[in-house]
Amino acid sequence: MNLLQSWLESLDYEYRILPSCTHYQSPRSSCRECIDQCPEQAIILKDGKPFIDTVKCTQCSQCIVACPVQAVEGFLPKRTVENNQLIVSNEDVISLKELLVYYQKQVTTIVFKHEDVSDEWQHMIKNANEALSELGEAAFAIQFNKAVEETEQTMTRKELFSFWKKDVKNIAKEMAPAKWRFNQESLNLTKYYPDHQFIEFSLDTSTCTLCKACEILCPKACIHLTDTHFTVAPEQCSNCSLCEDICPEQAISITSKISPVTPINYLLQENECTSCEENFKTLDEAEHMCHACRKKNELSFYNRN
Ligand code: SF4
Ligand code: SF4
Ligand code: SF4
Repeated sequence: MNLLQSWLESLDYEYRILPSCTHYQSPRSSCRECIDQCPEQAIILKDGKPFIDTVKCTQCSQCIVACPVQAVEGFLPKRTVENNQLIVSNEDVISLKELLVYYQKQVTTIVFKHEDVSDEWQHMIKNANEALSELGEAAFAIQFNKAVEETEQTMTRKELFSFWKKDVKNIAKEMAPAKWRFNQESLNLTKYYPDHQFIEFSLDTSTCTLCKACEILCPKACIHLTDTHFTVAPEQCSNCSLCEDICPEQAISITSKISPVTPINYLLQENECTSCEENFKTLDEAEHMCHACRKKNELSFYNRN
């Protein structure tokens, strides 16, 4: 098995950005998570879309963890996990998102090889334990073990081999390195904590025109507009900011905040427009002019002044 493992690790593959990236959905996307997290500055925006410079990329996988819509393809970060303990070194600080995913995989103890834990790690553990407290979970247990040795078996490799065992026939048919890339969905934090939401969604009901742009573009299908309601499932939201970026009325605001799930449900109202006398739908019961007439009025006001 070790020979096979070494061979797999020596395979040459390149990380790439998938078309599910928010910049492919709209040029107004402001997401820079992968760009900001890359320690090698290997990701740049090219023609408005993120591009990985494979010469600079060291395949550290930080971009994969950071992406809110799982749009970076490559291997998940290699971590050492033994007996549900995550064994770490000062040099390799693991992100909050990844720690929270490990926690739900029953990896609730972090083992340091040395007692002089770096400031960065202390800060990260504090953040992780605060987040766990907000999620109603116990804190990570911390241990020190100088004797702990690096082992070749890691969680990501285990995932690979269990996947490989299950699908050995299919893999044999289509043997190619790209086929062994991991499922980025395993880093979709929201699916591990279904009773909580990681964002606060706020909608300005006086400016929303019910244009449905947010509903159409949300990659997590959080937003639904029906004939009677505007609803949001905040527990599905991965904080990609796309709805906030593309709303033509700047009616949406998303902020990071952990809390128990509170579904959002706004009732639509039907009013008669005082200008064109047609019925129209609105979220604002005080609104008595339809969107088209309101815009026409605003334009003629600007033209007069
Ligand atoms: S983090 Fe993901 S969505 Fe954001 S720019 Fe990078 S690939 Fe696109
Ligand atoms: S919140 Fe913005 S994007 Fe969504 S329906 Fe309202 S106006 Fe359109
Ligand atoms: S609700 Fe907005 S921020 Fe959340 S996943 Fe959908 S588009 Fe992204």
